[in-house]
Amino acid sequence: MPNDTLGRPLKDLRISVTDRCNFRCTYCMPLNEYSWIERGELLTYEEILRLAGLFVRLGVEKIRVTGGEPLVRRKLDVLIRGLASLEGIQDLSLTTNGALLAEQAEALRAAGLKRINLSLDTLDAAKFRRITQRGELSEVLKGLEAAERCGFDPIKINAVIERGVNEDEIVPLAEFARAHGLTLRYIEFMDVGNANQWRMEKVVGKKEILATLAARFPLREAHRADTSSPAVNYEFADGGGAFGVIASVTEPFCRDCDRARLTADGKLVACLVAQQGHDLKSLLRAGASDRELMEVIAGLWRQRADRYSEERLVALQSPSGYEPQRHAKMEMIVLGG
Ligand code: SAM
Ligand code: SF4
Ligand code: SF4
Repeated sequence: MPNDTLGRPLKDLRISVTDRCNFRCTYCMPLNEYSWIERGELLTYEEILRLAGLFVRLGVEKIRVTGGEPLVRRKLDVLIRGLASLEGIQDLSLTTNGALLAEQAEALRAAGLKRINLSLDTLDAAKFRRITQRGELSEVLKGLEAAERCGFDPIKINAVIERGVNEDEIVPLAEFARAHGLTLRYIEFMDVGNANQWRMEKVVGKKEILATLAARFPLREAHRADTSSPAVNYEFADGGGAFGVIASVTEPFCRDCDRARLTADGKLVACLVAQQGHDLKSLLRAGASDRELMEVIAGLWRQRADRYSEERLVALQSPSGYEPQRHAKMEMIVLGG
């Protein structure tokens, strides 16, 4: 598999299995209605497995299943079973909001999923409702309990921190993660999509997150096993476990970005902040051979030059500033976060 124009290999594939979601998180999918992907346009599980297998043959080692909310797609465990048995895959994970996890954790574990990332931005039920617009904190906590019972390891908690919304949750979330032996990952609020009213003033940057934590816990930077991982890792120096900060806005990591995304309707997207994807589904449904599909994927990757977060930072630091509205982007729910 060739590297892209910036010398980056393709190692990581995020597969979105649906653009639908049972939540309407204000930072991600704030509107009630979107122009949803029609059912017939969704890749079937067979089609996803075929494409995933080709990506693995091209060098992909890690696959993450995401959405939208992946657990709203029926029988997700069937897909997980297929992905888990792909030869050459070293890491399979799932990102979920957890609302349907209590009922599905066991089947997912039995299908071969070993680890899970659960999104949880607050431990306050009223605030949880305000952020997700449709979610119940108690259901997510039940989902988390079920995941713990089924032996998922590690369970990582993703928390998007947005100023004026939940920066006061930085310490409570850490206390919760420490008490439960979970790895917490703080995520800077990003300008993905066009509807989340992103402004730089709403970003709580990595430095501020660390300062808030350092005022409460002893911290130290931990060895970064995988330089392509977006989270910079830290430890609570009193033995309270590890946590990470995904600083996409203030410390972009595009130069190590080895991730491609496959949308639920079969588009290959080279960057989280891309304006468009490349249609693989039409080729697949027109009868393209494995070799033809692999050539197309490799060709697209070879041309990849995306480094949006680095460009955003340069713009943010320039006298004219950065205007997010001037950049049309695909929605996170379509892309697969
Ligand atoms: N529905 C699932 C969930 O919430 O975990 C999976 C999809 S969601 C798009 C994947 C991840 O993207 C979540 O952890 C979510 O918090 C994060 N995310 C969504 N919008 C974001 C934004 N504007 N900035 C940073 N992270 C965001
Ligand atoms: Fe749905 Fe996840 Fe986006 Fe929230 S972050 S709206 S749960 S896709
Ligand atoms: Fe990768 Fe694009 Fe994010 Fe940069 S902005 S890290 S290239 S997905």
